[in-house]
Amino acid sequence: MTEFARRVEQVSISGIREVFEAAGEDAINLGIGQPDFPTPAHARRGAIEAIESDLTDAYTSNKGTRSLREAISATYDREYGLEVDPEDVIATSGGSEALHLVLQAHVDPGQEVIFPDPGFVSYDALTKIADGTPKPVSLRDDLTLDPATVEEAITDDTAVFVVNSPANPTGAVQNEADMREFARIADEHDVLCLSDEVYERIVFEGDHRSPLEFAETDNVVVVSACSKTYSMTGWRLGWVVGSNRRIERMLRVHQYGQACASAPAQYAAEAALTGPQEPVEEMVAAFERRRDLVLDGLEDAGLEVPTPEGAFYVMPKVPDGWCEAVLERDVVVVPGDAFGANGAGYARLSYATGTEDLKEALERIDAATRAVQ
Ligand code: PLP
Repeated sequence: MTEFARRVEQVSISGIREVFEAAGEDAINLGIGQPDFPTPAHARRGAIEAIESDLTDAYTSNKGTRSLREAISATYDREYGLEVDPEDVIATSGGSEALHLVLQAHVDPGQEVIFPDPGFVSYDALTKIADGTPKPVSLRDDLTLDPATVEEAITDDTAVFVVNSPANPTGAVQNEADMREFARIADEHDVLCLSDEVYERIVFEGDHRSPLEFAETDNVVVVSACSKTYSMTGWRLGWVVGSNRRIERMLRVHQYGQACASAPAQYAAEAALTGPQEPVEEMVAAFERRRDLVLDGLEDAGLEVPTPEGAFYVMPKVPDGWCEAVLERDVVVVPGDAFGANGAGYARLSYATGTEDLKEALERIDAATRAVQ
């Protein structure tokens, strides 16, 4: 009889949805992982015009249209001064598929994947789906990942280590010195660094830097997407950038598992990347104002909160029973242990929600915190 494969039996459906469902209809949802802004009009038009011009009836090249890959390449030049050959890019179905391609192409059964804990839920699950062994590592007190922790965790069995900056669920941003260290570690230990940069443009202080800028070998691959930058989570358009030989291996997985990313989404992404960037700047400015509002509110409630410098999440330390007390007051937050064992005692709050709702939520959080302390 056909049984289920072990690799799927060890993965469970993310618990985050259950928290949403437990909330009342009028609950204020601070559990959301996507921007609450519309997709920029020029991006939407890019898809509409492509559909109306009959450009979307056929498969595109497996890697994605040449013009989209050129637009992605131009972004790396503009943002980081990096020369990326458009042939060294695969357009994927969101950052999620890109993460999957990297792990499928580089992890053999039993090999280890090091990733931050607390960290984005997919790293653990996709490692298991690649038959690899998850190796979560803890963070510094400010919730950034210490390169020394990664270096100590590397063994002969390590295939990949994951860096995610700005980070989900913490909002933490790695500085340039850390990124240089991650690149050095990838070079010296001959281990692949998977840099998940889907929040790359949502940074409040300084600029995002990528380990790709500093590596001397091809041991860094970058995953990014339009999802967060252009509020396009529903369009499912991301990409992976890597050396030619790595892209060729990842293309084997993508070609048979996906064929190509959705054509309308590719045209929307191209328009998003090549058109005006003001909507991104306005969104980031709004997130920064909200970050300050939420930080003040949580600190006033007596919670200890590392200052997040990017993305749209904040991760305070919370007392026992806090998440339940907050949920009872109809505010949805995600318990920190949804992101790994070290997340216990924390909660993730997303401020991808309007200011009025945030103010109301902070009042309820204040009351809940006083009730449990
Ligand atoms: N990486 C991180 C850190 C994320 O938070 C997410 C989505 O929440 C993704 C990757 C996946 O993004 P996408 O929606 O483009 O698949």
